[in-house]
Amino acid sequence: MSDCIFCKIIAGDIPGKKVYEDDEILAFHDVNPQAPVHFLVIPKKHIRNIMELEAADTALLGRLLFKAQELAVEQGCGEKGARFVINCKDNGGQTVDHLHVHVLGGRFMEWPPG
Ligand code: AMP
Repeated sequence: MSDCIFCKIIAGDIPGKKVYEDDEILAFHDVNPQAPVHFLVIPKKHIRNIMELEAADTALLGRLLFKAQELAVEQGCGEKGARFVINCKDNGGQTVDHLHVHVLGGRFMEWPPG
């Protein structure tokens, strides 16, 4: 989608600090990290948010979450854990309308979020 910042990162039109890439998935460091480890895992397919997932996307979402787990372990979060977050629309605090999983680790995180 032409005006989507994450689609522009996928296309290489704006830079992203890449963690992982394959045909369907891209992972890159968050530009404004909230923890020592903070990266985003996104589908290359432009899906606006988790409310817009379709039944045909379930395998892709499964791959996305499994890749988030693998990368969290690679980034040193295997032992102590991490937080996996999907914000959705205004009340969910979503600011970029392209489905993404935040992976945050490297410190303890309080619950509930503010
Ligand atoms: P959310 O609020 O869940 O939509 O999260 C969007 C995230 O994207 C925020 O944590 C931003 O810091 C991050 N972000 C926005 N633009 C970029 C960018 N160009 N590269 C990396 N991360 C970005």
